[in-house]
Formats: sequence, structure tokens, C-alpha cells
Amino acid sequence: MRLDVLTIFPEMFKGFLSQSIIKRAQEKGLVEILLHDLRQYTSDKHGTVDDYPYGGGPGMILKPEPVFRAVESVQSQAPRGMVILLTPQGEQYHHRMAMSLSGEKRMLLICGRYKGLDERIRTLADREISIGDYVLTGGELPAMVIIDSVVRQVPGVLGDQESAWSDSFFGGILDAPQFTRPGVFRGLRVPEVLLSGDHGQIRIWRKKEALRRTLQRRPEILKIISLTEEDERLIAQIQEENRGSESAGG
Ligand code: SAM
Repeated sequence: MRLDVLTIFPEMFKGFLSQSIIKRAQEKGLVEILLHDLRQYTSDKHGTVDDYPYGGGPGMILKPEPVFRAVESVQSQAPRGMVILLTPQGEQYHHRMAMSLSGEKRMLLICGRYKGLDERIRTLADREISIGDYVLTGGELPAMVIIDSVVRQVPGVLGDQESAWSDSFFGGILDAPQFTRPGVFRGLRVPEVLLSGDHGQIRIWRKKEALRRTLQRRPEILKIISLTEEDERLIAQIQEENRGSESAGG
């Protein structure tokens, strides 16, 4: 997979790209991430990328010329990548989108800045993506969020792919609670079943606790995913336990 990023702050990506899983993915040749400084695509000696808004008003606007030039230059090398514009007005990002983007061979991410970007830049985009209903100063953090979440889905990137299969959202529901040593910490005990060595029981416990957590925190998810018979049985048990504790509590 090749990822190109257009930004006026390529330096912001330095730490992110040189650590941990993203660093190893590049070293293994599974992903190539190229940063393009938009100022390199300007025509004046000051590298001007912004200008005043037509019609007046506060803030500056990202100019179309450097963005068009940069996109055309990057896209001139085959195969053409999917162009993604980061904007709080885009479709909201989620796990399924990360999974589907991880199948792309190439993607080009455009990071906006300032008060926003010239509307004509939108014509370059195949998709507009928002990482949430809040406004950030620039598209660099959203680009990193997308790169991180997509790259970890690329086969071979995670040392232990099985660990991702139980991550929240992967199987549709939230992840189960996790524990490590010591067995007792400040009076808080690790559940006995995890120490039992009985892998069948541990699997069921994890499934049940993942369902319990999803039911408590994100019940809407359970309405849109397909549940197995085992899931249905475990949910019924959880609801029965909840009714029991409610009536015990009066
Ligand atoms: N005035 C713009 C609006 O309300 O849509 C917001 C501009 S924002 C200050 C500057 C840039 O940050 C945007 O062009 C976009 O690239 C990026 N950005 C900010 N929040 C974002 C979000 N939630 N998701 C994706 N990109 C975002």
C-alpha cells in the first residue's frame, strides 16, 4: 500500500511515522508513506498557500493552485490513488471504513488548514472524511488517525493478527476486559476463570463480558450486527443477571 499526504506541516508526521507499528510496517515494505509539502507546489518565492476569503470575513483560505498541482503531480504516477479530503463536513469515519480502505493500493490524503479550503478543491476528492464532530486546527491529526487505523488492518502489519480480531469493533462488539499480573492488585482480583487454564471457559467468559460491556456502553451496536445463537444465549443470561441484581437492590 502507498499513502501520499499533502500538508503544509510535514514535520508533524515525524514522530508518528518513526515509531512502533507504523515504523515497522514501512520497514517490512508493507506500506510506503510519502509526505508532500504543499509549499513546494506554489509559484511565488514566499511559498504562499493561503489567501483572503472572497466576500470578506475572518480567517484565511487554502488556495486551490498548490493543491491541484500537488494532486496532479502525485496522481501522474500510476496507479492513481483514491483521493481523500479531510474535513469536519465529511462522512464520519468508523472501523468498517478503515477495513475497506485497507484494501486500497494507493491513497492520497489532503490536509486542510486555516479557516478552510477553497471549495473548488473538493472536486479533486473521491471521498471526504471527518474523524468526528469537532473542529481541529488542521487535517494532519485526522490523516494520522486514518493512516494508523488503516495500516494496522493491512495483513502482516501486526505481529499477532489474532490480537486485532478481538479488538473493539473488529467482531462488531467492544473488546472484553483484559488483565495482566499481578493476580491481586490493591485488593482487586483477576477473575478466577482467567487463571483456570480452561480455554473453553475463558473463551465463553470473554465473549460474555464483551457483550455485557457493549450492552452497557454501546447498546445500539447490538441492534445492527448479526448475533450468533451463543451471543443471544449469553445476552439473555446477562439480562437475567441484571434483573436479579436490580431486584436484590430493591
Ligand atoms: N471552517 C471549516 C469548517 O467548519 O468546515 C473548518 C476548518 S478547520 C479549522 C481546518 C482544517 O482542519 C479542515 O480544512 C480539515 O482539513 C481539518 N479538520 C478539522 N477538523 C476535522 C475533522 N473533524 N475531521 C477531519 N478533518 C478536520
